[in-house]
Amino acid sequence: MGTVEILGTAQDAGVPHLGCRCVNCEAAREDVRQTRYASAIQLSDGGQYLFDATPDVRFQLTDVPDGVFLTHAHLGHLTGLLYFGRESTDADELPVYATPGLVDVIRDNEPLCSLVANGTVDLRSVADDVVSLEETAVTPFRVEHRESVPTGTLSYRIDGPDRSLLYLTDIDTLSDRAESLIRDVDVALVDGTFWSSDEIDRVADVPHPTVRSSMNDLNDADTEVVFTHLNHTNPLLNPGSDERERLESAGFRVAERGDTITL
Ligand SMILES: [Zn+2]
Ligand SMILES: [Zn+2]
Ligand SMILES: [Zn+2]
Repeated sequence: MGTVEILGTAQDAGVPHLGCRCVNCEAAREDVRQTRYASAIQLSDGGQYLFDATPDVRFQLTDVPDGVFLTHAHLGHLTGLLYFGRESTDADELPVYATPGLVDVIRDNEPLCSLVANGTVDLRSVADDVVSLEETAVTPFRVEHRESVPTGTLSYRIDGPDRSLLYLTDIDTLSDRAESLIRDVDVALVDGTFWSSDEIDRVADVPHPTVRSSMNDLNDADTEVVFTHLNHTNPLLNPGSDERERLESAGFRVAERGDTITL
């Protein structure tokens, strides 16, 4: 059996967001229960595997996992890797899975390359090969997410004995291929960065499908779709909002820290 626990549900920079005084950020500053860590999950299947090494990792994990699966090289998904180094846990040959390009970046650049030199991490390139773990199997898929990140972006599918889950936090648009990856699994954690495209004034720089449009596209899917990676501007953060009501009455959910999914 495998269990996935949701460790974080926010866009890379978390909630509250540095420098922002929007209603969601101010609410999170006033009430710590409304803070959200950057998106990450942990798979337990006999071993413990972290997906995304976020800047919030020291709040999200108690112990060093048995492996880390990286999705891509943006702030919320990579920088927590440094917490496994000598200033912190000083892990020993921690397996870290990433695209071949990201493996090269980690190996060749400070401060991350010290993790390799010190034997903290054991880098493992993954392309589209299946990684078999104790009782589950993890399959990486390349997805389109601002190809200005030349090292590429991965979504991960996790297959357990009974059910399958897709972890897809960052994608430019809900392409036909992305949609079929979602429709192919029992549970999908899906890019829910923005509810609508008018939330920020530089949305063209940070393309993501809006939750509104994804709800339309996935309306007839049998998959249990759970939105995660929410930006601090997203009205879905407010449990009492009309947008949350619309989402839930259409059969979708917002991911919450501590949620578990059995595979
Ligand atoms: Zn992200
Ligand atoms: Zn804000
Ligand atoms: Zn990203």
